Amino acid sequence: MRIDQWLRLASAKLAEAGSQSDPDSPGIDAEVLLLSRLDKPRSFLFTWPDQQLSEALQAQLAEDLQRRFDGEPVAHITGHREFWTLTLETNASTLIPRPDTESLVEAALALPLPQSARVVDLGTGTGAIALALASERPQWQVCAVEYSAEAAALARRNAQRHGLDVPVHQGSWYQPLQGQRFDLVVSNPPYIDPVDHHLDQGDVRFEPRSALIAPQQGLADIRHLAQQAQTHLHPGGVLMVEHGHDQGEAVRGIFAEAGLVQVSTGQDLGRRDRYTIGRAPR
Ligand code: GLN
Repeated sequence: MRIDQWLRLASAKLAEAGSQSDPDSPGIDAEVLLLSRLDKPRSFLFTWPDQQLSEALQAQLAEDLQRRFDGEPVAHITGHREFWTLTLETNASTLIPRPDTESLVEAALALPLPQSARVVDLGTGTGAIALALASERPQWQVCAVEYSAEAAALARRNAQRHGLDVPVHQGSWYQPLQGQRFDLVVSNPPYIDPVDHHLDQGDVRFEPRSALIAPQQGLADIRHLAQQAQTHLHPGGVLMVEHGHDQGEAVRGIFAEAGLVQVSTGQDLGRRDRYTIGRAPR
């Protein structure tokens, strides 16, 4: 079978599979699965549409497609996901990086921080936020914290893969950072309400609950991050956390209650509230 034939067939089959897999992106899923097996850039598909796929490759691709039909996220099948400018290894120990989270990276890069700012990413998972920031700002001293030993190891591999000097400490939120202060504390914590029905649909079913849900309508970890922030921020230092599109007002309230100032909420590419920023008073 040729590349273009396989792509047509695979996307039609994925579209048919409907709600089991993600019905929004059958064409992209098929391309990503094929490119991962070919180990080629996307342009290859359009330059060589008539290239024949070997029997062996077709057999591997059939297995990949079956896993996708069974609902498994593409990033778990291929073992990687693009985030910012980086290809990150992914696995079932943590959240798959989302494009929404790139809006935090963009906002962090726009902050007026010192030249060699000290930055920490709490609950880093794959390392996505920390590594994106370190790749853009080699002068910053970026480190990360992750609770899951398996995810911490994954983040370390991702740092190494990109040659980035980002130490990953294992522990819960601020706990491994006693006595340390930062110019920026950034986090994409769990923030989904445990009763949210979207946990039973699509890719999130394959991600660890510990990375997704938090008690108190999803706000417990954000509350903890805000309440401890002043112990770990320099005066004027920034706390930035991701949250759900309907949690902006609640999170601004939590930040203000924790004594943070200049509190504001920013939007993702879909123009939904996605993160809130506050500063430690000077
Ligand atoms: N935005 C993700 C989702 O809705 C959740 C990410 C998170 O809990 N930090 O699937």
